[in-house]
Amino acid sequence: MDPPAFVDLHLHAEGISDQDLATLAFFGMKAAVTCASDAGAGTAAELRRHWDDLVAIQSQRLKMAGIRPLVALGVHPARIPWHGVDDLLHRLPRYFDDPKVVALGELGLHEGGNREEELLARQLRLAVSLRRPVIVHTPAREKLARTRRLLAILKSSALPPERVLIDHVSEETLPLVRGFGCWAGLTLQPGAIDVEAASSLLRKNGAERIVLTSDIGEGATDLLALPKAAEALREAGLSADLCRRALLEGPSAFLGSVQVSELLH
Ligand SMILES: [Zn+2]
Repeated sequence: MDPPAFVDLHLHAEGISDQDLATLAFFGMKAAVTCASDAGAGTAAELRRHWDDLVAIQSQRLKMAGIRPLVALGVHPARIPWHGVDDLLHRLPRYFDDPKVVALGELGLHEGGNREEELLARQLRLAVSLRRPVIVHTPAREKLARTRRLLAILKSSALPPERVLIDHVSEETLPLVRGFGCWAGLTLQPGAIDVEAASSLLRKNGAERIVLTSDIGEGATDLLALPKAAEALREAGLSADLCRRALLEGPSAFLGSVQVSELLH
């Protein structure tokens, strides 16, 4: 029997070997969004090279492994360059001419503060004008306070909440995020959410606007977090339909531009 198909809305392909990408494809990964990360991007020029690498090289590597490549680009709050932010934001829209570039991300608040908040607001305005979804990071530290602040900034933007995925939610922030109308990402990694917690959250809330993500390739250690979760959720007694929604149909609906039928061909 084929393993359950899934789409990962948050990974970092540059940190995953070719061998591991092939393994992920074997275990059911049909498509993945490789997100602009906080690693390796110091200056604006380095960040642009990172964007170019994701679009040209990393998406090709995903494709070679048999995974449909999708890219999210943006300036991560943990690595805002001291110079050249205006130029970066000016160049960003042109990247969306490439159909593989499907979302802005990862954006968000890390330490918080004016600089991060202002950049987030500017990128949300870009998402509105580009009509693209946004993948948002929430930090491990002070997650509740940062998430509250994040939602306040989202509220004052013109971006529809259903176009926003707030990732790495906790049991505490999930109700806030969903109450606001955003998608919530349960990141199945040590230190984020474990599969027991994910299973009880899905049992309690259903899979409406909840997706499972891995964040592999950037510090995250469990390569097979999502395929293992798919199996564990079934063993915990969740229905096949619920698992399929959290792992495949939800991610596809969030992106809007990627149909499940195209992925399963
Ligand atoms: Zn990430």
